[in-house]
Amino acid sequence: MKIAVAGAGIIGACTAWSAAKQRHEVTLFDKDTAMAHTSQSSSKLLHGGLRYLETGQFALVKKALHARRFWLGQAPHLCRPLELLFPIYQGRGRPKWQISAGTKLYDLLASGSGFPKSRWLDKAEVLKRSPTLLSDGLKGAFSFYDAQMDDSALGRWVVAQCRNLGVEVVENHKIETFDSLAGFDRIANAAGPWAMELRHTQGGRPAFTIDWVRGSHIFTDRPLNQALMLPIPGEKRVFFVLPYQGKTMIGTTEIRQDHPDADRPSESEIGYLIESYNAYHGDKLTAADISGAFSGVRPLLKSAANPSDATREWAFERVGNVLHIYGGKWTTAQIQGEAALAELLK
Ligand SMILES: Cc1cc2nc3c(=O)[nH]c(=O)nc-3n(C[C@H](O)[C@H](O)[C@H](O)COP(=O)(O)OP(=O)(O)OC[C@H]3O[C@@H](n4cnc5c(N)ncnc54)[C@H](O)[C@@H]3O)c2cc1C
Repeated sequence: MKIAVAGAGIIGACTAWSAAKQRHEVTLFDKDTAMAHTSQSSSKLLHGGLRYLETGQFALVKKALHARRFWLGQAPHLCRPLELLFPIYQGRGRPKWQISAGTKLYDLLASGSGFPKSRWLDKAEVLKRSPTLLSDGLKGAFSFYDAQMDDSALGRWVVAQCRNLGVEVVENHKIETFDSLAGFDRIANAAGPWAMELRHTQGGRPAFTIDWVRGSHIFTDRPLNQALMLPIPGEKRVFFVLPYQGKTMIGTTEIRQDHPDADRPSESEIGYLIESYNAYHGDKLTAADISGAFSGVRPLLKSAANPSDATREWAFERVGNVLHIYGGKWTTAQIQGEAALAELLK
């Protein structure tokens, strides 16, 4: 079949890749350049998502835990296993038993994925690895594994695989309406945050709605050895302190927006991330220590009043020969691309 994919983020690229593997004739369009938007603005984790266990997304977590292995096998030069610590402080955040149960369930769902199991580290070991963590009230930490990627490079690697299989990649070409794609048998709308805009060019009421939730990260030039996942003080949310390309990356936020474009990280988001870091570290940060910041918009399926609780699953809607793709995650993009192709060929 002749297939057009609108949107060369990771979801569109993986859809095009799946179609090309089955020898369809594929053209992948992007209004800007491949991976220019959300797919290069993530937390750079190939992860199951420990925190999604709390919202009961067990099937998604299991899928994602196994998807990590796919990326490590395909492109080991662009991603690597990453050990994270979840420190436990007396009287702060979730109790130890709860994180213990969560990490055990994470291990169980990851069975067969080849990642090391979680374990408890005592206070001395945690402070040896993370000497700047506050020692007052620290009981120890749970160690667990996920993986880290260079999202921009890994995404562009997928696009290169598409090209190798004969996909025509057309950048700086916005699809305004599907009429311009009349020569194609099937069309995938993989426009991520802009998927609704393209959906509205067709009639009828969309079956799903996108929730635009901006997430920002900040960088400091301080090198870091140990990745951390920590609860935001006074909130249910967690945040990451990650080593990334010789720097420390801290994120993220969840700010609901009414438009798909990523606004620059706001002063209050930057302040929030600095405060969250300082709540656990002796080497306090100020605004002067921030050497960079970026933001991206999550195209989440609208499913919850609080964006933190929103599902990270995906959904499809077929209208005529067009398949609209909503939601998803970087980690599971390859599985989502295959599922999208199966729907597209129906
Ligand atoms: C802050 C943040 C942290 C995240 N962290 C993680 C993480 O650690 N791990 C993880 O698995 N997931 C993470 N995610 C989620 C993940 O990044 C997204 O689910 C994924 O990148 C979405 O990809 P996409 O292809 O749908 O969107 P995009 O990457 O935005 O791609 C859509 C593309 O469509 C193009 N486009 C739009 N309209 C048109 C049009 N009319 N014609 C042609 N092209 C068009 C755009 O230019 C864009 O390139 C995070 C997301 C955010 C925002």
